[in-house]
Amino acid sequence: MLMQVQRVVLNSRPGTNGVPVPENFRLEEITLVPDLKDGEVHVRTLYLSVDPYMRCRMNEDSGAEYLTSWQLSECLDGGGLGVVQTSRCRSFTEGDVVTSFNWPWQTQAIVKGNALQKVDPQLADGHLSYFLGAVGLTGLTALLGIREKGNVTKGADQTMVVSGAAGACGSLAGQIGRLDGCARVVGICGSDEKCKTLKEDLGFSAAVNYRREDVAVRLKESCPDGVDVYFDNVGGPISDAVISQMNHCGHVVLCGQISQYNKDVPYPPPLSEQTEETLQSRSITRERFVVLSYMSKAEAGLCELSQWIKSGQIKVLETVVSGIENIGGAFCSMMAGGNIGKQIVKI
Ligand code: NDP
Repeated sequence: MLMQVQRVVLNSRPGTNGVPVPENFRLEEITLVPDLKDGEVHVRTLYLSVDPYMRCRMNEDSGAEYLTSWQLSECLDGGGLGVVQTSRCRSFTEGDVVTSFNWPWQTQAIVKGNALQKVDPQLADGHLSYFLGAVGLTGLTALLGIREKGNVTKGADQTMVVSGAAGACGSLAGQIGRLDGCARVVGICGSDEKCKTLKEDLGFSAAVNYRREDVAVRLKESCPDGVDVYFDNVGGPISDAVISQMNHCGHVVLCGQISQYNKDVPYPPPLSEQTEETLQSRSITRERFVVLSYMSKAEAGLCELSQWIKSGQIKVLETVVSGIENIGGAFCSMMAGGNIGKQIVKI
């Protein structure tokens, strides 16, 4: 009955001003006793998600009241998906596909049934990993960010700019902006290959490689009528350049500020005086957006995303790494731009 399983624990912290490295994570083997108590479920992990917010969980103080810090030498957790092996929770039976925001980074685990949600594989057209991305929190972040904060109006000839555009949220946000009616969608990302994908596969009107090109100059060319909606995943100098070209009464969707996550600054990080002045004088809105505050809209949102994906109106991109031993490396790679679309770890 005893089982050897693998898990990943926090080995060390990168420090609030440090770049995370694979050595911050450690693989261990442990013995699992699959004797279930009432309400517990034995799950086998299929896919794990690595996400930018985990960088905050690597610090001693996560800096956000809704995020608990990871503890040294303890099993890590995050978005995950797997299949029920045995269950002593009435909501689940063997073979159910289930997901959780707090899935242990472990090949098999005993978890509380009330932390799991059952999913219908059909919603993701059979692609189970999509529940950690396009038909999960990532998709909802893009969709609800635009709907709640973007003020996209059909027929209004708006221009949307997306930073972090080839990543999980960004690649969806650009496609949703177009479907919701933006006349022009321009992406900013970190490689020529990513730019090509945005234009040729995802229908972006133009794309800028911020590592190689002058963002301000390229935006002037590709957004001749200025910027109305800015879906911001990165913050920092890229966002200063975008905001300086925004139109009166424009809207920033403040999704994330990844360029600042390896720095010891509060969230959202303070803006330069000039950018603050631009926001004020042009009456540009820039409200904090946290997807978890809109969970009452999750079910309807996931249905909409599912339909777009099944009909081919939204293309889903993923970068998949295999093996739980590679999850730390996958996280570090994602933080440094190694992914196109959602970074997934297949177990
Ligand atoms: P991504 O798939 O976009 O991966 C992160 C990407 O960020 C990398 O691929 C890299 O792409 C880019 N990046 C890394 N460092 C920098 C930098 N210094 N400057 C510019 N770009 C950089 O991750 P997600 O889609 O999961 O997350 C995107 C953003 O959305 C994050 O800021 C995250 O915190 C936020 N988020 C917010 C939520 C909310 O509720 N508000 C919920 C979920 C996510 P490149 O090659 O282009 O540099």
